[in-house]
Amino acid sequence: MSRIYNFSAGPAALPQAVLERARDELLEWQDAGASVMELSHRSKAFLSIAQAAEADLRELLAIPEHYKVLFLQGGATAQFAMVPLNLLPDASSRADYVDTGSWSAKAIKEAGRYGDVQVVASSKDTQYDRIPAPDQWQVRQDAAYLHYTPNETIGGVEFHWVPEVSDAPLVVDMSSTLLSRPIDVSRFGLIYAGAQKNIGPAGLTLVIVREDLLDRARASTPAMLNYATHAKADSMANTPPTYAWYLAGLVFQWLKAQGGLDTMARVNERKAQTLYGAIDGSDFYRSPVAADCRSWMNVPFTLPDAELDGAFLAGAEEAGLSSLKGHRSVGGMRASLYNAMPQDGVDALVAYMQDFERRHG
Ligand code: PMP
Repeated sequence: MSRIYNFSAGPAALPQAVLERARDELLEWQDAGASVMELSHRSKAFLSIAQAAEADLRELLAIPEHYKVLFLQGGATAQFAMVPLNLLPDASSRADYVDTGSWSAKAIKEAGRYGDVQVVASSKDTQYDRIPAPDQWQVRQDAAYLHYTPNETIGGVEFHWVPEVSDAPLVVDMSSTLLSRPIDVSRFGLIYAGAQKNIGPAGLTLVIVREDLLDRARASTPAMLNYATHAKADSMANTPPTYAWYLAGLVFQWLKAQGGLDTMARVNERKAQTLYGAIDGSDFYRSPVAADCRSWMNVPFTLPDAELDGAFLAGAEEAGLSSLKGHRSVGGMRASLYNAMPQDGVDALVAYMQDFERRHG
């Protein structure tokens, strides 16, 4: 068996220890006589898995009591609609959005179908290379919420701070940053994230929502798209993605064993600094993102000539460094450095980059 260093933006690498544990438990989970995949979601065995996963997540993120944790499906993309359906009671309700990249833009487009949506700030004019200065944001204090994307997976723009510009609850798409560092959950009204980066496999979507926001869905909201339905049913209003939930639980246990999110933040910051240091220290590679908002999780970079991209990627694959091609909408390279990517993988990437520069620079 040979496992590559997988720099994919998602679905992304999972910790090897988690995969080994899942392998060991694949045919029979503990003494259940069946695989987790084969257990009823109502069984005692699965309920214990589900509850332990939620308890571990609550501990890792220090989630306050008055927040519900929902284990849903539909990806972060479904949240682009669920958020306005649940938080904008009618079409005249206001929602403010910050546009810092492709995922913000998708969320904005979808929300526009359901309410009075305003883009309060955008960095589109500068190819999403920065976060617009918060004192320029045109927020509406009576908005039902202010939405932003703390980490733009494609552009590699990350907020290293929480905005304090509006009284409206903050709603955030944390798909590619949740669990990469500690956060203060109480600063947010609602947090959502697709699982396939730092949480577990694709097919699971986490929502962490303040309880007082559960009562304002518009009347026409389908029951399965209503957070209150899932909150009341402990995310078992219908059959939940049981195996993905179990795997996420294994990831949470692994994170606790690493020392929790303080440790992950230290490790992740060092990995990012290693790679940005190599990029900034060369005249060959370039980062398109302003220095103060460079993502720890997704590091886009370009070569001096796009003609070299093919050779760079082919050589990288040969060296066991996989999935470095930038998103098709922006080109160049992108290295995703989620929790499961070890420092050794980043060191190997930097060594390869330096060698490639010597041969082509
Ligand atoms: N938001 C962000 C920040 C993402 O990175 C992604 C997926 N890469 C999405 C939303 C869409 O997620 P999904 O495919 O789970 O719907």
